[in-house]
Amino acid sequence: MPKIQSASWIKPYPELILDGDRIFCKACSKIVSCSKKFQVDQHAKTPSHISKANRIKSGPVQSTLKQAVEVSSNQHHGQTKFNEDLCRMFLATNIPLHKMTNPQVKAFLQKYCKFNTPDESTLRKNVVGKVYASVIEEI
Ligand SMILES: [Zn+2]
Repeated sequence: MPKIQSASWIKPYPELILDGDRIFCKACSKIVSCSKKFQVDQHAKTPSHISKANRIKSGPVQSTLKQAVEVSSNQHHGQTKFNEDLCRMFLATNIPLHKMTNPQVKAFLQKYCKFNTPDESTLRKNVVGKVYASVIEEI
């Protein structure tokens, strides 16, 4: 398929980009068959494409996505820190980690902390080693 030809087909549609010898629709996040011009036009006329294309035009989707990723990674970081501090507190006060599964403890943590209450096994697997290492460092 001559490239120049398909490039001219997608001109009216800013959401379509030429990807090598294929046409990629940014709005639908998919490859559009483009062996014939009418296939491109047909895709651009589908209701689902039009609504997605309008959404792209009305807002910067990419920055929103980026923000969402940042928020979730911050949250993840917070959760990790929370698990660590919680584990440290349990170890420091000689509270066995399995107390975490106590419904009262769980309920308390869930009520007053914005983080998920980690499982005892999660703490054992991921956190105890870390906390242990940092305690040793402090000594
Ligand atoms: Zn599309």
